Amino acid sequence: MADVQTTNQSILVVGGGMSGITAALEASEAGYDVVLVEKNPYLGGRVAQIYHYFPKLCPPNCGLEINFKRMRVNPRLRFFTMSEVSGIKGSAGDYDVTIKTMPRYVNENCTCCGKCAEVVETEIDNPFNYGMDKIKAAYLPHPFAFPMRYVLDPSIVGTEEGKKALEACEYGAIDLEMTETSFDLKVGAIVWAAGWQPYDASKVEYYGFGEYPNVITNVMMERLADPNGPTGGKIVRPSDGKEAKKVAFIQCAGSRDENHLPYCSGICCLASMKQATYLREQYPDGEATIFFIDIRALDRLEDFYIKVQEDEKIQFVKSKIAFISEDEESGDLLLEGENTRTGKQIRETFDMVVLATGMVPNGIALEEPPDVSFDDYGFLTLDPEKPGIFGAGCVRRPTDVASSVQDATASALKAIQTIARR
Ligand SMILES: Cc1cc2nc3c(=O)[nH]c(=O)nc-3n(C[C@H](O)[C@H](O)[C@H](O)COP(=O)(O)OP(=O)(O)OC[C@H]3O[C@@H](n4cnc5c(N)ncnc54)[C@H](O)[C@@H]3O)c2cc1C
Repeated sequence: MADVQTTNQSILVVGGGMSGITAALEASEAGYDVVLVEKNPYLGGRVAQIYHYFPKLCPPNCGLEINFKRMRVNPRLRFFTMSEVSGIKGSAGDYDVTIKTMPRYVNENCTCCGKCAEVVETEIDNPFNYGMDKIKAAYLPHPFAFPMRYVLDPSIVGTEEGKKALEACEYGAIDLEMTETSFDLKVGAIVWAAGWQPYDASKVEYYGFGEYPNVITNVMMERLADPNGPTGGKIVRPSDGKEAKKVAFIQCAGSRDENHLPYCSGICCLASMKQATYLREQYPDGEATIFFIDIRALDRLEDFYIKVQEDEKIQFVKSKIAFISEDEESGDLLLEGENTRTGKQIRETFDMVVLATGMVPNGIALEEPPDVSFDDYGFLTLDPEKPGIFGAGCVRRPTDVASSVQDATASALKAIQTIARR
């Protein structure tokens, strides 16, 4: 069980993505004791799964590593992975919180030698790559994972495979006796930075996601382009491994649609433009077509839009794609719809389609949820009548990393103000 001493002058941060990490670092570097809980076995959130950042097109691991370095030297900040809040009681300035931690079955002796994975044969869907490939049931979540420590999937605990992993470990790092534990914290304020999840593209039935293997989503495309992804960075079709050289990006796949997500997620246009550059970088003869309703690229991001438009092999078509069908033999995809600028019908075949699906906020799923306010779409709002728990980043609105970081810094200040008043 974790030994954590906190008081009502301490701050809890829920979610270890870019927003949660930022809020935790800012508050702890200002002199406050902070506990950060993250449900994944690693920190970094969705950003860790992105290949390159728009607009600079640099890898996000650099920025994450700078933050992890700040965390390593900060004694005021404690973090717990595979952990979630299971209960919150009290009010601003005086919360009693219970944290539940799932067993990792691997302790801090792990050197990441990988011997456990060598002897284990069972494979599971790789959650980091959105299930596009398999990993051994003893695994490192991803090559830059922080903390850098293996995880054993519960499916092999209590089996011969679990025993084999235990015997293969020379460092005594595998502990098959680990169980779910919980511990209590007293805190004065909470920053809720649980982020977002991709909208379920299979709900947009007319695009065939889940039915046609070569229809993928934007988050999958990030993994496909990544050298550490399921194909070693090759942008190829899931159906047959063929080079995907002619790719359609469909914007607002379920977004700005009363039947799905009525709001705009703000970043999808930029994400598709960025992904079109992945394609063009890989295939000099590759062609990307971005089917859009309107392009949303504001301020400095407009410069990126202008730059991407300079590439004549990246087409922007103002349109509404109504339907996708698959040629069963070739796996090619036929897009049908209307060019809303010319009024002409669109009927064009592509190797692969990337659906730009929007961001859905991760709410507060507790049996007895605390008293906080949400907007009509489930995003946390800042309600002066309900101080003490502050949303940060994409739980407050769908947005990019730079804005998430600013928002998280503001939420750290709000949390500090709450406890400083006591
Ligand atoms: C396809 C795509 C590409 C993108 N590319 C870019 C880009 O190039 N540049 C850019 O600036 N932005 C980009 N974004 C946006 C970027 O992903 C977000 O701005 C960023 O993820 C926001 O960080 P966050 O910490 O708010 O949320 P998240 O990254 O979602 O992190 C939230 C964390 O909270 C954890 N969590 C969730 N629930 C709980 C719970 N109950 N208890 C404990 N932990 C919990 C999650 O596991 C996660 O680690 C892209 C988005 C998409 C969809």
